Amino acid sequence: MFAERAASALPGLSIKTEEPLREHTSFRIGGGAAVMVFPKNETELSVCRKLLSEMEIEPLILGAGTNVLAPDEGLQRVVLCLKGALCGIRAVGDTQIEAWAGEQLSRTALFARDHGLSGLEFAHGIPGTVGGGVYMNAGAYGGELKQVVTEVTVMDKMGELRTVPCGGETFGYRTSIFEDCGDIIVKATFSLQPGDPKAIGETMRELMERRKASQPLELPSAGSTFKRPKTGYAAAMIDEAGLKGTRVGGAAVSEKHAGFVVNLGGATAADVKALMKQIQDTVEKNNGIRLEPEVRIW
Ligand SMILES: Cc1cc2nc3c(=O)[nH]c(=O)nc-3n(C[C@H](O)[C@H](O)[C@H](O)COP(=O)(O)OP(=O)(O)OC[C@H]3O[C@@H](n4cnc5c(N)ncnc54)[C@H](O)[C@@H]3O)c2cc1C
Repeated sequence: MFAERAASALPGLSIKTEEPLREHTSFRIGGGAAVMVFPKNETELSVCRKLLSEMEIEPLILGAGTNVLAPDEGLQRVVLCLKGALCGIRAVGDTQIEAWAGEQLSRTALFARDHGLSGLEFAHGIPGTVGGGVYMNAGAYGGELKQVVTEVTVMDKMGELRTVPCGGETFGYRTSIFEDCGDIIVKATFSLQPGDPKAIGETMRELMERRKASQPLELPSAGSTFKRPKTGYAAAMIDEAGLKGTRVGGAAVSEKHAGFVVNLGGATAADVKALMKQIQDTVEKNNGIRLEPEVRIW
């Protein structure tokens, strides 16, 4: 069994069994993960990774769980959870910072502000980790991580680290090459511009106000449920289809922002998936466009 072997190889490792995924996802949905591991440094992560490979187990990687819909019945899988575990941020030279994958994007943006570095203002309100953000190429208000991430360190299946320089091919809209390779994002380097901390802070405050005014932040969700289609906006299409407020069980299309499916209380993954299908079918009928999920369905 992986849990026993990992515990004996790494006596200080934090391991939980039958850990409720609802406690690790912003949707507050999901049954138990058979094993959840919280590696707090590269060594622990590497030993786990090698052991998993030896045992031919493919783990799932979890950041802050703000873009994941986990199954009601749970998962007979090993989940490596990096949020709050593999953490740390440091300045590198005058204009770069390096952040570990489990670090919050918001804390990374605040670190940049405090060091008089501009470029991460847009990321301050995104509730995920650095690893999840890089994997998703998270973005908001005209900014995307691809504009500032210049290097990513990943760990392969043998527990070896590799540095990947980032260029035009690395990122796409809410996706990255890291989605296909199965490597774990360990840390990222951000190249930023000198700026006035006060002005940077003011921009962050303004963007946060816009976010609070337009998004249902008081209810559990995974942010935008669908990707922006090639033409138009998912939220506008859902709104025009009259779907705001539509409910399936405990899941509903937010009244405040039609792009968000929210958990009104007790929603199941089955409720969310049924509602997503209803939205996709209705929008396709109206606009001829099949909306593609942005939320990762486990
Ligand atoms: C209220 C709210 C507002 C949001 N606003 C925005 C927004 O403005 N812009 C935006 O882009 N998104 C937004 N999101 C979605 C979400 O916050 C982002 O997609 C975020 O980048 C996900 O990060 P995470 O750490 O939560 O990743 P998770 O949800 O934990 O994981 C997402 C995917 O990344 C993979 N992954 C995570 N970490 C790693 C790693 N270290 N190595 C390899 N794979 C990894 C996971 O396996 C999974 O497939 C919002 C979500 C919420 C709830």
